[in-house]
Amino acid sequence: MKIITSISEMQKWRRQLHLTGKIVGFIPTMGCLHEGHISLIKNSVEKCDFTVVSIFVNPIQFGPNEDFESYPRIIDSDKIILKKTGIDVLFSPKKNDIYPENFQTFVEVEDKTQYLCGKSRSGFFRGVTTIVLKLFNIIRPHIAFFGEKDWQQLEVIRTMVNDLNMEILIKSNPIVREKDGLAMSSRNRHLSVEDRSSARSLSQALESAQASILKGEQSAENIRTEIRKKIELHNGIKIDYISVCDPENFKEQSKIGPKTLIALAVRIGSVRLIDNRFIGSI
Ligand code: AMP
Repeated sequence: MKIITSISEMQKWRRQLHLTGKIVGFIPTMGCLHEGHISLIKNSVEKCDFTVVSIFVNPIQFGPNEDFESYPRIIDSDKIILKKTGIDVLFSPKKNDIYPENFQTFVEVEDKTQYLCGKSRSGFFRGVTTIVLKLFNIIRPHIAFFGEKDWQQLEVIRTMVNDLNMEILIKSNPIVREKDGLAMSSRNRHLSVEDRSSARSLSQALESAQASILKGEQSAENIRTEIRKKIELHNGIKIDYISVCDPENFKEQSKIGPKTLIALAVRIGSVRLIDNRFIGSI
């Protein structure tokens, strides 16, 4: 596994492959790797000739009161994990190389970012699309892999790629969960024992909402209420949103559609967690 920290070296590595016809897969991450990341990496290693993983905690997607400083950074153990996966390159650029002093160009997907996480995290998606576009330009992957845990992010990136005519195939992997159902997240390690136990209620509430829909519940409002009640039984959880929406444009549904996304975001102590469940067939 080659470790590259400079943009020019990354571009040089990529240029050498240019005429070989080899397929390059790419997984952008913020590090503190877990099985969710590994599933994306395995998918790429299996499908592509070369796999590049980036680790970069992207400052511009964090709001002023968010956890940029405390976001977990454990690059040395990440490297050990990555070496075992068979990837070809770890790209971990420096903040000042990615955003030099005079940096002033951003990319924004306008509509899909107005809902769900975009409402409570102003500037978040603008930060995400800008870094992903930059990384795509540097690495020039044929295929990029994203997790369905960040469903809205995945859709926003698909929109950017489509709108800007980028020749990159976006592939997604299902959410990887802990044994008790909690969606894996780098932020889970910041949960106290008590909060970790409350956090289970997210996947449990989604599971029972899905069961209600399968039993015939048609009212989106009833589903929202059912989820709210289940989550509010637990101490210390502050709900950011509970959404029953269209999985592509994120507009709230009043009736469960042929395709529905149930998405939620909560704050437990200082940790913000998201989870979702897609209902329908893709
Ligand atoms: P992050 O490091 O949190 O920015 O995530 C990097 C990629 O891993 C994103 O595409 C996420 O959607 C994906 N990811 C994070 N957690 C999970 C999970 N539990 N299951 C599947 N994919 C995940």
